[in-house]
Amino acid sequence: MRDLTARILDPMAEAGGQLSALYPDKYIYDVAGFPKIRAKDLVRNPLEQVEPFDPIFSSEERAETLAPQEDGSFLVITSARRSYRSRAVIITAGVGALEPRRLDAEGVDRLEHKGLEYAVRNAEAYRGKRVLIIGGGDSAVDWGLTLKDLAAHVSLIHRRETFRAHGATVNRLIAAAEAGELELLTPYELKAVLGEEEVREAVIVHKQTGKERSLNVDAVLALTGYVSRLGPIAHWGLELEKNRIKANTRMETSLPGVFAAGDITTYPGKIRLIAVGFGEAATAANHAAAHAHPKLRVDPGHSSGPSRTPRWRVRASSIESASA
Ligand SMILES: Cc1cc2nc3c(=O)[nH]c(=O)nc-3n(C[C@H](O)[C@H](O)[C@H](O)COP(=O)(O)OP(=O)(O)OC[C@H]3O[C@@H](n4cnc5c(N)ncnc54)[C@H](O)[C@@H]3O)c2cc1C
Repeated sequence: MRDLTARILDPMAEAGGQLSALYPDKYIYDVAGFPKIRAKDLVRNPLEQVEPFDPIFSSEERAETLAPQEDGSFLVITSARRSYRSRAVIITAGVGALEPRRLDAEGVDRLEHKGLEYAVRNAEAYRGKRVLIIGGGDSAVDWGLTLKDLAAHVSLIHRRETFRAHGATVNRLIAAAEAGELELLTPYELKAVLGEEEVREAVIVHKQTGKERSLNVDAVLALTGYVSRLGPIAHWGLELEKNRIKANTRMETSLPGVFAAGDITTYPGKIRLIAVGFGEAATAANHAAAHAHPKLRVDPGHSSGPSRTPRWRVRASSIESASA
């Protein structure tokens, strides 16, 4: 709404931070304007809301370095070895970069992206395939229920007897297994993934008896949750307190031109809630706008006001890959 361009970097394949990764099906009751809303819907709504402004999403890219430039701008280099230049940076890195919890089993690293994946990017890719899903949370259970109708065969293993996912979907999963629509194997763990060029077989082991089983599969989907780490941000020269970035009431960090919002920030009285993050993001964005363009007022005015006819066709060219 400030007529600026924005690029959003995230190592996750999907937008939504903790809401998408950790509790997509849980209801949230304390976001203003929504008596209750599922986390995944709360993610979908803002994505729809930003659509007219054409922000650039760079998913599966983690910001690795932040280097202040002589002209006052910043160069951000990412895990995809791309570099982006920007006049202002807003850090909303939450509890740190969320990355899939990687499996520790033979063949796993070698066969990643050769049949073994940590996220579903395109469900159609599994049509007619024999799929092994690993996990006991919402993601594993939801994908088990979705893929059973697409794949030739679905086996789902979990290392515990009980599932962590939403009760109603777990019941649907158990009913589907009883109806022979998919195979549910507990308590099992992955021991090895085999295959020359791509996944052909998975060896699983029963946690209690130690007995091994071999499954002929074309794809292994490891949906065992996420780990988070503050990672590179800790070395950007920002003033930190207990692994959080110190921010003032303008959401400025100790580096002029670098702002922060959400769970990553700390200041006296800080509360870590979505509603608070929304407010901090608005504060950070408007101060960042005025920093990037000193002639702009910090106060954005009201989006509902008659004089606020959208000027918001975004100039996608004004944030460019510095390497371009
Ligand atoms: C189970 C659970 C239930 C919750 N329920 C509620 C609730 O009912 N109400 C409520 O208000 N709050 C709730 N919360 C808290 C709420 O989810 C957080 O306050 C909120 O997600 C914070 O948003 P954020 O954008 O600051 O950070 P996050 O959601 O953590 O998102 C940060 C994003 O930044 C990315 N990132 C990190 N480092 C980098 C990097 N170097 N480069 C690029 N990207 C990076 C991460 O991958 C992630 O996607 C809950 C949390 C949990 C775990």
